[in-house]
Amino acid sequence: MRCSYCIPEEGVKFIPSDEILRYEEILTLADIFIGKGIKKIRITGGEPLLRNDILFLIERLGTKPIDEIVLTTNGILLGEYAERLKDSGVERVNVSLDSLNKNTYQRITKTDSLPRVIDGIHKANKSGLKVKVNVVAMRGINDSELLDFVNFGKKNNIGLRFIEVMPQYYSEEMVKDLFIGSKEIVSQIEKEYTLTSLKNSQKGSVERLFEIRETDYKFGIINAMSDPFCSHCNRLRLMANGVLKACLFGEDGPNLKKMLGENKKEEEISRAIEKLVMDKPEKYFIDERTTNLVMNRVGG
Ligand code: SAM
Repeated sequence: MRCSYCIPEEGVKFIPSDEILRYEEILTLADIFIGKGIKKIRITGGEPLLRNDILFLIERLGTKPIDEIVLTTNGILLGEYAERLKDSGVERVNVSLDSLNKNTYQRITKTDSLPRVIDGIHKANKSGLKVKVNVVAMRGINDSELLDFVNFGKKNNIGLRFIEVMPQYYSEEMVKDLFIGSKEIVSQIEKEYTLTSLKNSQKGSVERLFEIRETDYKFGIINAMSDPFCSHCNRLRLMANGVLKACLFGEDGPNLKKMLGENKKEEEISRAIEKLVMDKPEKYFIDERTTNLVMNRVGG
């Protein structure tokens, strides 16, 4: 899948396989993060369901003392995996789906997988997984579908989040044209419904929650661009090559795979993590650091 706002037309350079974290390394690092108080692990990508034996990793993570394992996926293989994901300990799947229209979906993703993704969402729902659909709102592409998404979520009892499109290293100009801010998203939904803005009770949550007063359906907006949530973002992102980042837009932190390879002690790795967190700026500097965002590597 090659979503145009995420992957440049010429494609991406794949990391050599010996530079990718092995499952044993991920599990060792998971123990270190858990020791530092991490309670939630999200598996993303690339496309996580394409990785061999992904269920092995999830099952092993599931035995660890954490509250939640979630997975972000394009949904193409979700139908095949739904039941096994649930059985392996996944609590929730976030499915990236930017259009409910066959032609628009094809235009965005360059695939005709929409029916498979919808089927995957239904199967995931049926298997007892919580499902949340992530929609990147884009002017002139899917902005006429925002209400359709709300109605789809409401009808199928599925969570929904609109995401403001973020500029990446190669797409700053393109994103300027596509950008729709949260105010406009809200006013589109208000054409049909009355919305109440809710206080988000979940610690570290990066979405702004809204409730439709006519029903009790709630949806979120990730308004990273129009109202950055840096002050309460508590996420750390471990990339496939072992590089740790404290911010989507931030510079690369320590390479934890390299540290493991050099037989660094657990305390040293732990200190490197701590330092990255302590040095995290209060707010990202999007103007100067846009080139640091490579969403297809950090996984959203
Ligand atoms: N393959 C998985 C998927 O499709 O969900 C995980 C990786 S994908 C990079 C994770 C999320 O990042 C998706 O929901 C995608 O829409 C979002 N994303 C990618 N580029 C973005 C951008 N420029 N602005 C906002 N969200 C973006």
